[in-house]
Amino acid sequence: MKKPRVLIVEDESSIAELIAVNLRHNGFDPIWSEDGVSAQREIDTLAPDLILLDWMLPGQSGLQLARQWRKDPLTKAIPILMLTARGDEPDKVAGLDAGADDYITKPFSTQEMLARIRAVLRRRTPEAPTERIEIGELVLDTATHRVTWQGGALKVGPTEFKLLGYLMQNAERVHSRSQLLDKVWGDHVYIEERTVDVHVKRLRESLGGAAPMVETVRGAGYRLTAQATV
Ligand code: CA
Repeated sequence: MKKPRVLIVEDESSIAELIAVNLRHNGFDPIWSEDGVSAQREIDTLAPDLILLDWMLPGQSGLQLARQWRKDPLTKAIPILMLTARGDEPDKVAGLDAGADDYITKPFSTQEMLARIRAVLRRRTPEAPTERIEIGELVLDTATHRVTWQGGALKVGPTEFKLLGYLMQNAERVHSRSQLLDKVWGDHVYIEERTVDVHVKRLRESLGGAAPMVETVRGAGYRLTAQATV
């Protein structure tokens, strides 16, 4: 069986190392990121099974990250365990409201952490089957990060993968560039709408024969359609 991959988002290296050692000794595959930006990079390439998310981080806080990942179709099914140094009830509630599955208050014992991780993974497993989206002969699998067209694997970059995932989940609907920026890149990112065109172009190049499924709707935006002649 594959070891569950746990992404630790924690800026204090001594704590992160301790957690990683304990996870490794207990049959998990830990990865460590010290802030939201590097955590996002790991998520885009590795698809973790669970995220251990510290509340106090440089840059975006754990709370902001939890909210953002819950909104993203590609991360919304990944369980999040918040690590908090605070014992205050309002903070725990805020964490859970933001989409965390549970929280652990620092300092915590290894046994407590493992018990919570296992409980969250157990709870999540029945509802989180392999997320496979199929439109015609185009298939995207969020668990394995694979895209296939007529059974053949396609090489799709991380941003194009997210973009394709969103378009496939909302197939046949037209999305404006600003909607795509908001849904795929997140509303905290300030980038030009033209960036969307660049990634759509790259996505089409990656899709090969399936490229016509990504349609440009003049004056409106883009849509993914099963009706295209491919
Ligand atoms: Ca911290």
